[in-house]
Amino acid sequence: MIIARTFEELRAARATLGSIGFVPTMGALHEGHLSLIEAAKTAGLPVAASIFVNPTQFGPREDFARYPRDEAGDLAKLEEAGCALAWLPTADIMYPPHDSTHIQMAGPALHWEGASRPGHFNGVATVVAKLFGQLRPQAAYFGEKDWQQVQVVSRMVADLVLPVEIVPVPTVREADGLALSSRNRYLTAEERRAAPRLYATLTHAAQEIVAGKEVAATLHHARHELAQAGMVPDYVALVHAQSLEAVSGLVHPARLIAAAKLGHVRLLDNLPVG
Ligand code: AMP
Repeated sequence: MIIARTFEELRAARATLGSIGFVPTMGALHEGHLSLIEAAKTAGLPVAASIFVNPTQFGPREDFARYPRDEAGDLAKLEEAGCALAWLPTADIMYPPHDSTHIQMAGPALHWEGASRPGHFNGVATVVAKLFGQLRPQAAYFGEKDWQQVQVVSRMVADLVLPVEIVPVPTVREADGLALSSRNRYLTAEERRAAPRLYATLTHAAQEIVAGKEVAATLHHARHELAQAGMVPDYVALVHAQSLEAVSGLVHPARLIAAAKLGHVRLLDNLPVG
């Protein structure tokens, strides 16, 4: 595996590789990230992964400084997973002096995570567009765990006519249903026991909606169940799966999305409905 940290190293590595599949990450890698690499390998492409904790997608009161970092462990995992290239840019490379261009997302970025984390998706779209320019991948792999992010990136790629295929990859879960996340390590033992209630609640709500139960009542009940489990729900919503607009009845395709705070950790999850 080639490790590139400068544009010179990236250019040299890129020249040896032809078409690539690309997996952008913020590091602290787990099986969810590795499933994206597996998906890219299945497509028969050499895989490039990036590790960059992107400051512009964190709010001023968020956990940028505390975000888990384990470069040596991550590089060993990428090597073991069969990555051809690891791209580890510095903040100066991603945001050089006089950097003046930032993407401003509307549409699928407006609500939910976009409302709770102002500027978050602008930061995501901007860094992803820069990474696409640097790596020029044929395809890029994103986890459905961050469903809204996949829709925002897909919208950005369509609007800017970027020549890259966005491939969503199903969420990898623990045996008890909890979606893997780099931030799960910050759950206390007690919180860890409660955390799978998010997936269980969404699964139950999706079944109720498919069975014809009223959507508003089902969502209200789901928020109540999360609170019972010790969480502070931010939102539980039924949305059109691509536009992320809230819907009051079952549409196709529909997605049930939720975010809830458990202790200091913000948990996210989502499911298809119908
Ligand atoms: P992050 O390092 O958290 O920015 O995530 C990098 C990529 O991994 C994103 O496309 C995430 O959606 C994806 N990802 C994170 N957790 C999971 C998971 N449990 N299953 C599948 N993909 C995931």
